[in-house]
Amino acid sequence: MTRPGHRPADELRALLAITLDALDAGRRDRGGPLPAGGPADVRRAVLAALGPGPLLPTDGDGEAAALGALTRMLSAGSADPADPLCAAHLHCPPLAVAVAADLAVSALNPSQDSWDQSPAGTTVETEVVATLAELVGYDPGQAVGTVTTGGTESNLMGLLLGGHVIGGAASRATALSRAQRRPAAWSHRARPGSGADMAAGPLPVLCSSAGHHSVRRGAELLGLGRVVPIAVDTAHRMDVPALGTALTRHGGPALVVATAGTTDAGAIDPLTEIVDVVRAHPAPVWLHVDAAHGGGALFSPRLAGRLAGLARADSVALDLHKLGWQPAPAGVFLTPSRRGWDRLEAEVSYLNPADETAAGYPSLLGRSLRTTRRPDAFKIAVTFRALGRERLGALVDACHDLARHAARVVTEDPRLELAAPVTLSTVLFRYLPDGSDRRDRPGGPERVDRLNAAIRARLLDEGAAVVGRTTAGPDGAVHLKLTLLNPEATTTDVTALLSLVAATGDRLAAEPRP
Ligand SMILES: *Cc1c(COP(=O)(O)O)cnc(C)c1O
Repeated sequence: MTRPGHRPADELRALLAITLDALDAGRRDRGGPLPAGGPADVRRAVLAALGPGPLLPTDGDGEAAALGALTRMLSAGSADPADPLCAAHLHCPPLAVAVAADLAVSALNPSQDSWDQSPAGTTVETEVVATLAELVGYDPGQAVGTVTTGGTESNLMGLLLGGHVIGGAASRATALSRAQRRPAAWSHRARPGSGADMAAGPLPVLCSSAGHHSVRRGAELLGLGRVVPIAVDTAHRMDVPALGTALTRHGGPALVVATAGTTDAGAIDPLTEIVDVVRAHPAPVWLHVDAAHGGGALFSPRLAGRLAGLARADSVALDLHKLGWQPAPAGVFLTPSRRGWDRLEAEVSYLNPADETAAGYPSLLGRSLRTTRRPDAFKIAVTFRALGRERLGALVDACHDLARHAARVVTEDPRLELAAPVTLSTVLFRYLPDGSDRRDRPGGPERVDRLNAAIRARLLDEGAAVVGRTTAGPDGAVHLKLTLLNPEATTTDVTALLSLVAATGDRLAAEPRP
């Protein structure tokens, strides 16, 4: 019988050995990028490992037995981003050093909501935020930020702070024009219960049609106005003249969200031009840049220039659990100054009483929507010190090289069609039966959609590969995508993955009705 906290290092060392062995055993059980058999087989395997009795039995199995068996089951049943044939989503194979640093945080279990729970963690986060702010191009002495659970939370915070600042400006302007007995050009009917910030009416959120779904959800949660989709060009980037037109048509204050690294194509909106359009608008606009995917390019001297203009944004979202090789969560939210943060300020008697704050105990309570919050900045700090910018940049470049190789393979294979240029490490494409030149393809576009959907499903069911699926193009055709975030994968791996996709397409196309 061990008490929590009793000789934790010895106990943890023994359990860690079990965990690492079970991770390996499970990987061997799986024998590929994901478990074969589809949802029913995986469910059966999980329930078998959990055992016949209740999940919370009267008497437990003991630490070693439960940890070993269930870790092996989890590893066998996982889609493993460390496998080169697992390339569908934006989460990455985490660096061993970051995983180990994350373990240190788990063992100490600190929380960032008050200094007395995380004395060192508080300063680590402050330093990590300043370092990332400088990388973005903000003045690190003025910038403010926080480590978040990811792009979703960072985008929500961008909309929250932006809505507070711009909504406040709008309501002041409306009050002024009411006093002048002239309606403000942008005054809408206030929604009941929408709060002082929204007194001038819901603020619209302008975001490209390729923007992340969390922008829409954040706008809904915050009771902001409608999300106005802005068209994209053929490279999936926001069409800047269309943004200008939408802003002019609206006339009033607004929130604009640009995307640096779209989810489907990895496209980076033309940030410099967007900033120019936004700043030329006569009413106040808050520009948030969702760089959850593309922010990692800042580590790479080759790619960082593609984010030019980022330093002029009012807020930025980064995600180091994507092109940053951290275990999730490792999101970051940054602003160039304190503007807007008063929205989150809180003085809570049991966390940050005013006299303690005045005496020099820093409080991060007003940096987050959350209360209990892990110091996820720690693993980032360890990674930065361990690898340095050059090695991190080399990881980004390695993934970019793999994507460029994949695009060449797709272009050279007549059965595959590239749908977007490679910007970061995403390759968007589809399979075309009978070769890409055939215009009179039997079955028409529906059959091509069905085939592409079936390729992915077949590969998943066989446990052979995890490729992404989305829709793209003017008709919303089904496409496949590779998100190549494993810098240790080789060009041979990528070629093999694309051959597998094309061969599976051929196989399905030859079946009576795919
Ligand atoms: C991944 C992603 C998000 C969401 O981030 P989470 O970390 O999953 O919350 C938002 N925007 C973009 C562009 C992304 O790629």
